[in-house]
Amino acid sequence: MRTYKYKIHNHSKNKRLGNLLDDLADVHNHFLRLEKRYYRIYGKYAGRYRMQPHLTKLLKTTKKHWSWIPRDTLDVAIIRIDTAYQRFFSGQGGIPKPKRKHRYRSAKFQTGYKLENGRVRISFKSWDEWTQSLKFNRIWFSFHQHRNWHGDVRYIQILRDSSGEYWLYIVTDDTSTEPYQPTGESVGIDFGLKTFLTLSTGEKIESPEFLKQSLKQLRTLNKSVSRKIRGSNNWWRAIRQLARHSIKVANQRLDWQWKVATDLCRRFDTIATETLNLDGMKRLWGRKVSDLAFYQFVQVLEYKCFKHNREFHQVGQWTPTTKPCSDCGFKNGTLSLNDRQWTCSQCGSHHDRDINAAINILRAAYDPVVEQI
Ligand SMILES: [Zn+2]
Repeated sequence: MRTYKYKIHNHSKNKRLGNLLDDLADVHNHFLRLEKRYYRIYGKYAGRYRMQPHLTKLLKTTKKHWSWIPRDTLDVAIIRIDTAYQRFFSGQGGIPKPKRKHRYRSAKFQTGYKLENGRVRISFKSWDEWTQSLKFNRIWFSFHQHRNWHGDVRYIQILRDSSGEYWLYIVTDDTSTEPYQPTGESVGIDFGLKTFLTLSTGEKIESPEFLKQSLKQLRTLNKSVSRKIRGSNNWWRAIRQLARHSIKVANQRLDWQWKVATDLCRRFDTIATETLNLDGMKRLWGRKVSDLAFYQFVQVLEYKCFKHNREFHQVGQWTPTTKPCSDCGFKNGTLSLNDRQWTCSQCGSHHDRDINAAINILRAAYDPVVEQI
């Protein structure tokens, strides 16, 4: 599966898309309340196969005003709740929460849309009071097609970002690869708070200055929002500014991450990283972890490795990578978080903490037995 992202041109009819997402927030919240009630009575949650027939009933009775939305798009709202509960009960996610209207971000269309060069048609339904029947309103939205998509389209998604712009995501089944030449090299990567990436080759990759600068501006804008009176005109202006800037920072970061991942894929046949334990990292480093977006980087890297036929390894999160000496395997039990450099008391090697960890990560990827020690 491959996702292509396009900007939908600003137009007054985009209001329809906004209304659509607001209504989907309603659907989401309605079914969430229903789940809560169901749980109180039966001690379990109701799956999608219980909820979907209920939706059919609602559309004919109390929630007629939802029926303008394509049915498969409505169904996705319910399926998302179902998946969220499954994740919650298997301990993989938080409890599903109600969403405020402008916070509902995306609608999925599996049928009833049509794609053409630079435009997409979505069929909404409307209830005609005169004829007492549903009629179709087919609306075209144009988007900036800066590149072509490849493969068969599986579904599309309409997204609303926090600054109120709309995006079209086209998901296709394209799995073509563009293999790079083998280089015979492999690398282990350690993530860090001070240095974004440390490679087992000894290289250190820092976040670029412009990104740090933008993050600093982001903090300034955040402060400026909190100084304004909530709901005032100035507050709204600051909120919009903040949203625009957040998006800019996120784009810059993603752009940079693609470049770093491309460079790594060109140079190495095998790439090994740690499995991220974000909760543990947050506890260790504080909230800044979310700024650093390791998770996103791992996704980009994994995708690039797939695309260019590179081997991608993630070593288990319980694999000791920091304390063992990468030369002799001696475990340095006294190593603390502040020790950036250390000398092995067994073999006398001098280590940079992060480089040593990166080497251990690479080794663990080749030798899974290490994990059990
Ligand atoms: Zn040693």
